[in-house]
Amino acid sequence: MIKKIGILTSGGDSPGMNAAIRAAVRTGLSYGIEMYGITNGYRGLINREIHRMDRSSVSDIVNRGGTILKTARLPEFKEEKVLLQAVQILKEEGIEALVVIGGDGSYRGALDLTKHGINCIGLPGTIDNDIASTDYTIGFDTALNTIIESVDKIRDTTESHSRCSLIEVMGNRCGDLALYAGIAEGAEIIITPDFGMSDEEVFSTLKEMREKDANKRAIVIISEKIYPDIHAFAKEVEKNTGFTTRATVLGYIQRGGAPSAKDRVLAGRMGSFAIDLLVQGKGGRCVGVRGMNLVDYDIYEALAMKKVTNTSMMELVRKTNK
Ligand code: ADP
Repeated sequence: MIKKIGILTSGGDSPGMNAAIRAAVRTGLSYGIEMYGITNGYRGLINREIHRMDRSSVSDIVNRGGTILKTARLPEFKEEKVLLQAVQILKEEGIEALVVIGGDGSYRGALDLTKHGINCIGLPGTIDNDIASTDYTIGFDTALNTIIESVDKIRDTTESHSRCSLIEVMGNRCGDLALYAGIAEGAEIIITPDFGMSDEEVFSTLKEMREKDANKRAIVIISEKIYPDIHAFAKEVEKNTGFTTRATVLGYIQRGGAPSAKDRVLAGRMGSFAIDLLVQGKGGRCVGVRGMNLVDYDIYEALAMKKVTNTSMMELVRKTNK
């Protein structure tokens, strides 16, 4: 039976990571396993920032955004020398297995550690929903709700002035936040990496709306990294459509805040499941959710998966915006 398990968060933080930490720590303790928190991701591991965790060390965190274990990036973790240093430290500390909460990059580190005898389980922690091996990542639902709350506020002023609002949301080359938020807001236009639109199409759609009804307002939701400067694009929209146009970049507000009930439950289930897998002697796996069920995949296989383009949801947008 495994005696000591470590847990760390890595890459960008996301709301719900704490709920996953809590569930993993308490599940481990229920099996009689010693649980260890590693602060600051792989960087903290190399710096031996390791501490024992008990039941009370995860009290009152289920409702908190961010990660109590902090997170960091260590690009050098790809180097064999640094990896071997991490393996050595874990062996010295007697930590036989790790739960790694993060994105694709963190999964790669977890896979490398597993190859060197440290069984690792990856949990998908990111607001972007850009991990193909799960329908939903921990933090996506909370970020989506934050976007909706913000856009609801922006639309009040947009409506009052009959303006056009361009709202840029996060997504790291994954359009799910924009797509889901766009549907939840009934946005006139949604632009994502999968569902692009030429500038001319954007202009003509908005111009047509404006010409039909001068008191109309328009909400346009756009994934990050599509326009290099969304404020410059707002000026172009204004010039070409007659709509007074303002751009808002929601930015880091999307990463924070108390996790939604859905994220807390998902994170709790995944955190506990990760320990069950380690107890069964499994490693090099990552956890996902498909429909209502938790699943686990070989990390190597998971990293090769491609996210399925959500054409049916975009079809819904096309039908409802006609
Ligand atoms: P995310 O996990 O959210 O995708 P990053 O891509 O920044 O975030 O990765 C987080 C950390 O995982 C990196 O700072 C690095 O320590 C580790 N990592 C990333 N890519 C690799 C890789 N190819 N091999 C080993 N470790 C990696």
